[in-house]
Amino acid sequence: MQTQNFLDLENTYGAHNYKPLDVVLTKGQGVWVWDVDGKQYLDCLAAYSAVNQGHCHPKIMETMVAQAKKLTLTSRAFRNDQLGPFYKEICELTNSHKVLPMNSGAEAVESVIKAVRKWGYTVKGIPENQAEIIVCSNNFHGRTISIVSFSTDEKARSGFGPFTPGFTIIPFGDSEALEAAITPNTAGFLVEPIQGEAGVIIPQDGYLQAIREICSRKNVVLILDEIQTGLGRTGKILAEEHEGIEADLTLVGKALSGGYFPISAILSNKEVMDVLQPGEHGSTFGGNPLACAVARTALQVLQEDNMLENALNMGDYFLGELKKISSPLVKDIRGRGLMIAMELVPEAGGARPYCLKLAEKGILCKETHEDTIRFAPPLVIQKHEVDWALEQIESVIAEKP
Ligand SMILES: *Cc1c(COP(=O)(O)O)cnc(C)c1O
Repeated sequence: MQTQNFLDLENTYGAHNYKPLDVVLTKGQGVWVWDVDGKQYLDCLAAYSAVNQGHCHPKIMETMVAQAKKLTLTSRAFRNDQLGPFYKEICELTNSHKVLPMNSGAEAVESVIKAVRKWGYTVKGIPENQAEIIVCSNNFHGRTISIVSFSTDEKARSGFGPFTPGFTIIPFGDSEALEAAITPNTAGFLVEPIQGEAGVIIPQDGYLQAIREICSRKNVVLILDEIQTGLGRTGKILAEEHEGIEADLTLVGKALSGGYFPISAILSNKEVMDVLQPGEHGSTFGGNPLACAVARTALQVLQEDNMLENALNMGDYFLGELKKISSPLVKDIRGRGLMIAMELVPEAGGARPYCLKLAEKGILCKETHEDTIRFAPPLVIQKHEVDWALEQIESVIAEKP
């Protein structure tokens, strides 16, 4: 079949809830993917950072195949021999005490809302049904009803009400606004250390430390959504490490899968996780041995293959070289590790046409919001590949498409 046949099939039979580039991929290896016509691309999206370890990492593949032949699903009605070791290894790596495994990012967010509300009632003493969770404007935490209830993106919400109450929205990056918004009924503050989908918005230095101090002083649970920033993307296991803080609850997902099999997790201190009792929460596939085995190797190769160090080094280099490109079309270039954004001026006419041009030149990336192009390749990218990407980017933004 040709590209057009695949597009026709998707358009005819699929829900139209995405507007993908018309590239039909069939193979991947490391930072590279190939389409059905054999054209090769550098993947600068990495499945929204779910493929940090690179496509089809051989060691994760070995684990996936071996575990698939052995045991894949038990449900949590019984125990399995991958779950305990997974818990221990991710706790040691992230300095956490307790883990709740789920499948998708949105499920981890939903689960954390339940846990924090329960903590609010049973530990903090908030009157029943009064618990509030503070979140930030321009957040992205997923797509379920409760999560879009506290989105500020009209597209994410419009037509999907009625919404879940109990959320207060404050500006991102403003610790004074957090302090002012906290009431005796505030159970938690949920925030991304760097807002990814909003366009790689990096708060001012000191923000994470400030919100950590406020949450501790006011007895509010600090929840960091590191589903995108975590597991090496910013050059650290968790982005919180850039300011030397520890959240009470941390959400990871995406790259925990190694790009192979969905798994997410809430990493917790002991106090909050211990409020959940048998029967109060669960998931048929959560903590299944296939996902746990894959996640264990996905975490292992991040360390073994020095992906954090590479993300820091290549990120610094990529960012520095991008900043040297002078174009009147570019408004701002920012990033941390390999989470990099190029924001175009409004006169550039939106980021999408540039993404299409980049795809023609062999680079896959996706606009976030109107005017921003995100560059977030797998963490195994090498210098000569960054150099090649820079050449293509420079030529594409030299003129309006
Ligand atoms: C992708 C993402 C989610 C949602 O994860 P899904 O697996 O798509 O449900 C939540 N939070 C952040 C910060 C994300 O980037």
